[in-house]
Amino acid sequence: MEVIKNGITGTETLTVDLLGGAFALEGPPAVQNPNPSARTSFRAADRLSGMLLGSAIGDALGMPVRGLDNRLTKQAIERLGGVRHFVAPQPHVLRSLRRLRPGCWTDSTQLTLQTTRSLLKKSDVDYDDIAQAMVHAFENFELRGWDTTTKQSCRRLSQGTHRLRSGKLHGCGNAVAARIAPIAAWTFMQGEDRQQLLEHCFHYGVMTHHDVRAITGAYLIGLLIRDALAAPRRWDPSPNRYAELIEEAKWAETILSHRLGRPEDLLSRHLEELEDALDCSSVELADFCQGAESYACHSVSYVIALLCGRSWDFEEAIIATVNGGGDTDTNAAMVGAVVGAAVGTKKLPRQLLERLEEVEVIRGLGEKYAGVF
Ligand SMILES: [Mg+2]
Repeated sequence: MEVIKNGITGTETLTVDLLGGAFALEGPPAVQNPNPSARTSFRAADRLSGMLLGSAIGDALGMPVRGLDNRLTKQAIERLGGVRHFVAPQPHVLRSLRRLRPGCWTDSTQLTLQTTRSLLKKSDVDYDDIAQAMVHAFENFELRGWDTTTKQSCRRLSQGTHRLRSGKLHGCGNAVAARIAPIAAWTFMQGEDRQQLLEHCFHYGVMTHHDVRAITGAYLIGLLIRDALAAPRRWDPSPNRYAELIEEAKWAETILSHRLGRPEDLLSRHLEELEDALDCSSVELADFCQGAESYACHSVSYVIALLCGRSWDFEEAIIATVNGGGDTDTNAAMVGAVVGAAVGTKKLPRQLLERLEEVEVIRGLGEKYAGVF
């Protein structure tokens, strides 16, 4: 029997020692991952820029209503007649967002771009360099809605704590899932498999969030990014994708629990509870997800149910996501990254692109990133 403690192996069938017992764990169905170079219709620059821009647009759409009290968030959405455009921050929003102008994005975009810069600079997933890039952002950027878990962990990294020990124990928020897109895209472009994606999610996630739920959430969003890049320029999930992702979540939770300890609550259980609600509206889904606030089990399950429930046009997807309330900017950043990666830059709404903060910087970063492969 092979007991996995420190590494996730590259084999499809893993034998693990789980809670004192031993059994063979079959890997879930493999993700379709065609070689992009073999597909003439695939333009990496268009898709990777679409992913980064889509994430930033979703973040900026949700920013003006992102507060700590979801009751006030929902009231603000109602007052605005639903959020459909970039608007000014509403009175209840997080203090660090109140001075932003319409079209500005927040923490998840700051760190997604910062992660992309590291991948570009090193032409590799270099965890030490990514940790340094996070610290640089923490010390030099305006901290727009940064979660306490990420701030505390970056402070520990800056003080010399090793990245395997810097993350907050039980840090179970959605922040890692919200910034995983460039790393998931790396695995797709390089033809890496699911085990390698999970390994990256572990090392990337644990530097801030030492928790199975936060990292499983990142893994599942990463799989959806890979689906999006493999898709023919539209977001049209297969009918059984949601059920497959529940199995993927269980598989990741089993492996991650060996390294991080098994939490009482698990993302896979939340996904199972939502399985019959995939055709509900975003408002109803958010209610089923306890408001879709920043806890990974609530936020990521909301995003996955929305994405897997039907095919989506980009603009419809991010508008529906924000108007469900909760962690509006982070939820829409995840949805925007996935649908943006599927449709590419040319199908992003021009009226939002024109008003997005640093749109050409983000587009250029996506194009340069594509040049790595
Ligand atoms: Mg944010």
